Amino acid sequence: MDEKKDKPKAKKKITVAVRDFALPLKRSGSLGGSSFSSTLPIDLGQEIHTIIQNRLTLESDNYQPELSLQTLLTGERFDIRIRGRLDGIFKSPIPLIEEIKSSFGMASLKKAIELDPEHPYLLQTRLYGYIYYLKYNRTADLQLRLVDSRTLAEEIVAVSFELATFEKWVLARQKQIEEDIATYAALVKKRKRLAARLYFPFKNQRPKQEDLVAQVKQSLEGKRQLLVQAPTGLGKTAAVLYPALVHALSQGSPVVYVAPKNSQFKAAVDLGQVFQRSRIPLKVLVLTSKTKACQRDEVLCQNSSCPFSINYHDKVEENKLRARDEKKHLWDYRYFQKLSEQYEICPYEIGMERIRAADLIICDYNYIFSPHANFLDRYLDPILPMRKPLLVIDEAHNLYERVIENYSPEVRLSLLKEFFSKTLIKDEAFNKVIDQAIRLMKTLSPPASSAKIKTDGEAIKELLSKTLSLMTARWGGEGLPGSEDPLFQFFTLWFDLNEMINVSQEAIPLIYKRENGDEILKAQCIDPSALIAPIYANFLGVVAFSATLKPFAFYQHMSGFDPQTSEAVEFGSPFPREHKKIMVIPQVQTNYRERDRHYQRIALIMERVIDLQPGPYLAFFSSYQFLRSVEAELPKGKDWQLFSQSSSLSGAGIQKIMDLLEDGEGTRLIMAVQGGSLSEGIDFRGMGLRGVFVVGPAVPSATFERRLMQEHFEQLAGNGRAYAYVYPSMTRSVQAAGRIVRDETERGIIILMDPRFVEKDYAEAMPEDWYKDSAKELIPTQILAEIKDFWDHKDEGSELSLMAKGKDDEDSLSI
Ligand code: SF4
Repeated sequence: MDEKKDKPKAKKKITVAVRDFALPLKRSGSLGGSSFSSTLPIDLGQEIHTIIQNRLTLESDNYQPELSLQTLLTGERFDIRIRGRLDGIFKSPIPLIEEIKSSFGMASLKKAIELDPEHPYLLQTRLYGYIYYLKYNRTADLQLRLVDSRTLAEEIVAVSFELATFEKWVLARQKQIEEDIATYAALVKKRKRLAARLYFPFKNQRPKQEDLVAQVKQSLEGKRQLLVQAPTGLGKTAAVLYPALVHALSQGSPVVYVAPKNSQFKAAVDLGQVFQRSRIPLKVLVLTSKTKACQRDEVLCQNSSCPFSINYHDKVEENKLRARDEKKHLWDYRYFQKLSEQYEICPYEIGMERIRAADLIICDYNYIFSPHANFLDRYLDPILPMRKPLLVIDEAHNLYERVIENYSPEVRLSLLKEFFSKTLIKDEAFNKVIDQAIRLMKTLSPPASSAKIKTDGEAIKELLSKTLSLMTARWGGEGLPGSEDPLFQFFTLWFDLNEMINVSQEAIPLIYKRENGDEILKAQCIDPSALIAPIYANFLGVVAFSATLKPFAFYQHMSGFDPQTSEAVEFGSPFPREHKKIMVIPQVQTNYRERDRHYQRIALIMERVIDLQPGPYLAFFSSYQFLRSVEAELPKGKDWQLFSQSSSLSGAGIQKIMDLLEDGEGTRLIMAVQGGSLSEGIDFRGMGLRGVFVVGPAVPSATFERRLMQEHFEQLAGNGRAYAYVYPSMTRSVQAAGRIVRDETERGIIILMDPRFVEKDYAEAMPEDWYKDSAKELIPTQILAEIKDFWDHKDEGSELSLMAKGKDDEDSLSI
């Protein structure tokens, strides 16, 4: 007899906190929450608890605060241990158990408790009463002690308890938890089956694409974070996402794919749909920002004033919208809008509710990399054993700058003064707080126009505390303030600043600067690595990719990767190198001091190069002003169609350019700026682009913030100048250059103008196939002759010689 086989399987035990068990069986009512309550200091409630408990201990000998209780519920599939600490018990022949709940909205809390017999506070108190009964075989009286967070005024609400009825509820909730766990286990199993069915979705896998798939698989299996540089044309989104999906799904996890712009989601969505068309039921969720998803002119969710929020849960239940999802595999903006219009429910919330069920979640960086990021809050569950998702970061060269932006809150003096006019003339109390803030700015203001400043933060805390008192005095009773309220906005401004200055003086120093007649107090993030790195701990693995991630040491650090445990791999272009003619013209100076002497020369080079092979061209400059100056020097009377980018270029404007490139004839010259919407994240494939001029590196201005960054990285990596200026500018230049030769049929020229392009720091940011040993190889012997040869496929020289190789004296450039 096989004893092992016949032995009954031991039931799994799970532990659940009282507050997580004591939740209503059915969610009902409106969407709750207010941005006010979510920004409150989290330990405020705990402080109030302690104050009340200390007082009750002094007042009554029978009072015992914080009693630990637990019980074990035996279930069909699991045993559930429920654990918690009740706030206090008065010991007497009939003991009295109480829970303390503090709130800024006492009136609305009382109303909610009155109206909802399954209010979580009531359930929690009853559950303590029930566990107490199981342990001591004694029924206790129950009560809630509601405390006004503003005034500390207290109110007692008696909580009814009927053992048999509550026991039924406990059983129902226990069953519900068992079902939820079983449903989740089925989802994990389904994902594992899906993983086995996935296949690389394109027929002709390119050799380098195959290598990339193998690399991603190998790094993920080896539990190493991976940074991949691969050019456009290799099909890198599919080559990264496919093995990422197989790896994650085979462990029951989803993949979270993040990109900096919604317009960059397409490749990931397309891949998901390719699988879906092959009847592989991969659930793909596309999340847009709340502002984009919202049905109203302004995102004002507070106080359940929004009709799409009111009775949200009832509408979802009544219309069985969750079950309806089963038939749908792509949950995107359009689907949510349709549901929202049909049932008057919030489209953003519908999307967020699907986070746990989706196999591939496609969203913006901000869902993960922002102080207000809420993806993980919504994904994780206190009871379900959620599998860690796998993170895929597209266009990863953008990540560090986005994090710097998100973690650098500021307070402007001009904005503070605007609050005077936003408030009622007679709002003396608020005016006083604004005054105090302005005085604080003056106290902190240094003699220099920009400086790092030190503060113990006490003055900011005091200001926050006064603002909070004022807010709670005003909204303590009924409704809580919304984000449109000036007092709330004022509070948020200082709250965000206070949060960041407490992170790290090294990575986020506090600075003060005078700029354009304004004064700014700012927590300036200069090194995002320490902010990003801990976020990865929530994921099963991380793959970051882009066409421009060099030098790797820079991007590994800036992306929060551990250089010891991460890998960085570069994949070259899948197209023949001969399809690209890359040259550096060092005789053109584009630095700020000298460029005005070179406008004519730049225009002339562009003209001569274009004349050799008329067609569509792109020219990228470091600034709009630079662009205009060269534009003014372009030859008149040419049969060219010219388009120059303005800072207000809209989506319609971009479409116009695409149409011009696609349908126009003859020479079309698009002049744009590096780092703008025409130089990154836009695909000109199939438009027959002949060439791209990269007119100088777009080196960031030497602002005070950049100088701080330079100092920091000089100390950390011994190369502050490169970290603060060179590498960020080269990312832009290489991105701009990458707009051409995007499929195997295209050929084109890349002309980089400036001697800095051959310097070591600049050259090490170039893709590996640009040069063999030194970037100086890119300096042509004869510019036009070489270009003509490129177009003619000729090897010999030409009469069009402009210069001799090696002569970098600018005067040797005679045209
Ligand atoms: S529709 Fe807009 S305002 Fe209304 S709850 Fe949703 S996000 Fe908030």
